[in-house]
Amino acid sequence: MDFFLEESERLKSLPPYLFFEIDRAKRRSLEKGVKVIDFGVGDPDQPTPSFIVSAMLKASKDPANHHYPLDRGNALFRQAVCVWLKKRFGLVFSSDTEILPLIGSKEGIAHLPLAFVNPGDMALVPDPCYPPYKSGTIFAGGVPYLMPLKEENGFLPEFEKIPADILKRAKIIFVNYPNNPTGAVAPRSFYEKLVRWAAEHKILIASDLAYSEVYFGKDKPLSIFEIPGAKDVAIEFHSLSKTCNMTGWRVGFAAGRPEVISALLRVKSNIDSGVFTAIQKTAIEALKNSFGFSKKTNILYRKRRDLLVAGLKELGFPVKPNQATFYVFTRLPKNQKDSTLFCKNLLEAAGIVATPGVGFGAAGETYVRFTLTVREPEIHEALGRMKKVFDEGKV
Ligand code: PLP
Repeated sequence: MDFFLEESERLKSLPPYLFFEIDRAKRRSLEKGVKVIDFGVGDPDQPTPSFIVSAMLKASKDPANHHYPLDRGNALFRQAVCVWLKKRFGLVFSSDTEILPLIGSKEGIAHLPLAFVNPGDMALVPDPCYPPYKSGTIFAGGVPYLMPLKEENGFLPEFEKIPADILKRAKIIFVNYPNNPTGAVAPRSFYEKLVRWAAEHKILIASDLAYSEVYFGKDKPLSIFEIPGAKDVAIEFHSLSKTCNMTGWRVGFAAGRPEVISALLRVKSNIDSGVFTAIQKTAIEALKNSFGFSKKTNILYRKRRDLLVAGLKELGFPVKPNQATFYVFTRLPKNQKDSTLFCKNLLEAAGIVATPGVGFGAAGETYVRFTLTVREPEIHEALGRMKKVFDEGKV
């Protein structure tokens, strides 16, 4: 029976859930007893390191940690964040006014437009992108303006080409390097241009650095705050999810100038009450040891990347190795154009889940994303299965 209330216009205006068909096909394959190999989920397969779990056991036993957390978060965690930002990027932030703990960076990203976007305002959003940039904007009554990320531009948006009438309405530009889903990284020159441009047009840069620690080259991914003047115009989102294999724990933080941080805090303090204090205290230990830990996981992801990329190349994908993130993003083989159909066929014929590029936005069509959160034996198995179904002409 239909529910007696209609969903809000806000909810109805969210982009359609394009992964629905793939989800259904995955369930069907599992029901048939197929051993599905899942390159779909952007969630580390390795467990949270045991030193973090031990810290949590201790912190969770302390009754002092059982109360509502303070809005602004635990002071010791904020101080640990400042130490981490200094060590990793050479940046200096005030732990009192410039750092805000988040219930995962997704929460802060999705809430940010509520602080700065009025109905009818625009947010400049990359296409393809991590979906909350769009949905957070829509929930605030704003309109996402899509900036296509083209492979020939290194998957960087051409923000200088945005028309003047759009710029007048734009309040926020979202950027995300290392990038999900493309795996691209941004050079210093990109951030330098972006900071100058944002200052000129009075647009807040929301830099999503969730993958700052997942990289394979010599050059570490940059923080936008390494660019002089960035603090005037940017907020940056960090996450412990991928850095420390802590996706389920829900902890991250935002860094930025006091005015921006306190606006986001005012939104949050009307919606949530912050991160469980035991988790914030555990996150201190996680950050202290994150560099050694990421070094090890990056070796693991790199081996998987080399194996998968070499195999996909042999199968005819025009794939280039990603320099960061655990995503391999490639155009479809044999000039195929329909990424949803490709992924559906791949799942039905070979029991392999991959994400259609179009699921991240129209500009992702003709691409497919494979995650590196699958163990090497399964990657071998998947490549063998793919060869078979390609040879049989099923995909
Ligand atoms: N940003 C990007 C680009 C992501 O891919 C994700 C998660 O997949 C997040 C942010 C959110 O991470 P979390 O909320 O776990 O910190």
